[in-house]
Order: sequence, then C-alpha cells, then structure tokens
Amino acid sequence: MSKALYEIALLPGDGIGPEVVDAAVRVLNAAAKNEDLKLSYTTYEAGANLFQRTGESMAEADAVAVGQADAVLLGAMGLPTVRKADGTEIAPQIDLRERYGLFASLRPCELFPGVPTRVKAEKVNMLVIRETTEGLFAGRHDKQEPSDEAVSDRLTITRATSEKLFEVAFEQAKQRRASYGTPGHVTLLDKSNVLRSNAFLRKVFDEVAERHPDIGTARLYIDAGSMMFVTNPERYDVVVTENVFGDITSEIAAGVVGGLGVAPSGDVSLKHGIFQPSHGSAPDIAGKGVANPVATILSTAMMLEWIAQQQDDPRCEKVAAAIRQATAKVLHSGPRTPDIGGNGNTESVTQSIVDALNS
Ligand code: NAD
Repeated sequence: MSKALYEIALLPGDGIGPEVVDAAVRVLNAAAKNEDLKLSYTTYEAGANLFQRTGESMAEADAVAVGQADAVLLGAMGLPTVRKADGTEIAPQIDLRERYGLFASLRPCELFPGVPTRVKAEKVNMLVIRETTEGLFAGRHDKQEPSDEAVSDRLTITRATSEKLFEVAFEQAKQRRASYGTPGHVTLLDKSNVLRSNAFLRKVFDEVAERHPDIGTARLYIDAGSMMFVTNPERYDVVVTENVFGDITSEIAAGVVGGLGVAPSGDVSLKHGIFQPSHGSAPDIAGKGVANPVATILSTAMMLEWIAQQQDDPRCEKVAAAIRQATAKVLHSGPRTPDIGGNGNTESVTQSIVDALNS
C-alpha cells in the first residue's frame, strides 16, 4: 500500500558526508515535487565527530528511531584519526547493518557516457552484491585475549544468510533484465578451492541456482574473478560474494566506471534499507566543496526504487527514473567534479542536476 508521506532518516556523518547528503536531498526534493511525492526528513547525528565529543558513535535511541523510518540515507562515517582503544575505527554504519540484519549490500557500477575510465570497455553495467553481516566480519565482537604475537579473525558462512543473499541476487538479475535489458546472469566469486566455508557457500549457491533455471550462472575463484573486473568487466551482470571479497571487488568495479564519486549503494534486508555512496568520509577533500555528489544522488534513486517495491508505489519508481536520467545527462554534458576529470564542484553539479530535472 502506498503512503501519503514517506519518512526518510538522514545520517550525514563525517567529512564530506554532510556535503553530499545536502546535495542529494536538494535533488530528491526537486524530483519528488515534480511527481507530487511527499517526503519528510529527520536528521540524526552519528559518526567520529560525535564519538570524539561523547564517547559513543550513535545514541541508542537514535539507532532505534532510524529503524522506524521508511528508508535511511547515509553520508559517510569515520575519520582515520579517530580510533577506539583496540586500534579500529568507530563504524556505526556497520553496527546498523548488524542491528537490522542488512545482509545484502547492492553496489551497481555503470559506466555513464562522459565519465572517463582507464579500462578498455564501452558498456559496463554490473551489480556487485556483497554479503555484509558475516563472512570475514563474523567475529567482529568475539572476545580475544590481547596479544602481541598472533591475532585471528573468524570467517563464518551460514546457510540461512547465504540462501537469502542468493535469492536477492537471482531476483536482482531478473529485475535488471526487465528494466535495463541486461542478460540475466549471476556470477559467484569465492575461494572454494581452499576455504571450507567457501566450499559450503558454493554448495548453497548451486542449490539456489537450481530454483532459477531462467538465469545464467558462473562460478569463479576470487583471484581470477578480480582480474576480470579490469580485463573484461563487460562479462559481469550480477556478481555475488562474501563480505570482504565484496568489499574489495565492489571498489575495483567502482574504479572501472570512474571511481567512488559515482558509485552508489544500498544495504538491505527484506524489511529495512540504508542507502549511501560507496565512498567514505574523504577527509582529504572535506570542506573544499569539490566532493562528487553523484554517488549519493544515485543512492537516493536506489532508495526510491526500493521504497517503490516495498510499498508498491509506482510514483517512487518514476522519481527514481527521473533522478537517474537527469544525473546521466549532467555526467554527459558536464559540469563534472575533478575526480572524474572535470573542473566543476559539488554546487555546480548539484544545481545542474536540479535544473535538468526542472527542464
Ligand atoms: P574514502 O572513500 O573516504 O576516500 C578514498 C579516496 O577517494 C580519497 O582520495 C577521496 O578524496 C576520494 N573520494 C571519495 N569520495 C569522493 C567523492 N564523493 N568525490 C571525490 N572524491 C572522493 O576512503 P578512505 O580515505 O579509505 O576512508 C576515509 C574514512 O572514511 C575512513 O575513516 C574510513 O573508515 C571511512 N569509511 C567510511 C565508509 C562508510 O561510512 N560507509 C566507507 C568507507 C570508508
């Protein structure tokens, strides 16, 4: 059932996070107005700056409130200079994934006309799906005796999460085929030649694949599969893999299509969705007004597509399509930010996308 008003929780975070979230909300508002779609926003503070001031990276009440929203738009969290006693950084975005069981991170990587790539390819349009709650992050909270000699991390694969993950991958392959005319194909990347956990992952993949005979499949080892992102990215449609393998390969894929500044993402469960650029807080360019807002703007389009499906509301689909089109137009014509070879800035790119929506 579609709603009269959708509640969006905003988590701008640290570094360039607030700059790109501001830009994305301007675009979202312009696009929503054209379809008479009503959105309301509540902003929550979370991240390294909050941790420095208060000793916690997100208030418990806010973490609960965020779960009541129809969807969440997040900027970026963390600063390399702000660390906990164990040497790791604060990461409320990972805490939220665990709290809300956001097991699939959807990371589309499309090469838009006008965006330079260092790779020899013309038509790259893939979706990397990274599992985000287990794999090599599974032991994040394991108790450990402090040691200066040896420290281990645990890699765990469960049937329940893997089945859900692969079902999402096959569904995405079908939806992409219907929306973009992509082939309808899923590639699993794993290390099943060495790791028992990954042999199990492949077994579950094979079982789920049997339920989707209309979707093509491939299984590649992560090492060879990683190389192919660079040598033959056009071969990929949907790619699905373990948490850390997905962390790395989704950024290789982003690099192939122009870099982190144009790579959106959505962390989803069957009930909750947090949408954010694939990049981090980029402290090296924070406050300079040159952050590329495109990744966050495309993340808002993903967010609306997800709401459209959750709420069965075609208006959200229309607004998402309009945002995509306006963004593609500006990527082609310029202005573009320096990370993708332009001399524009956050403001000029954002305003051009708003203008394209209103033209
Ligand atoms: P990063 O993604 O912040 O930056 C990597 C490089 O890409 C930098 O040179 C940066 O300037 C550039 N870049 C990133 N986004 C850009 C944009 N929109 N426009 C133009 N250039 C852009 O990665 P990092 O430097 O490894 O990490 C910085 C901080 O972000 C760390 O504290 C890290 O833990 C955190 N981080 C957070 C998230 C998240 O919130 N989801 C994800 C990754 C990293």
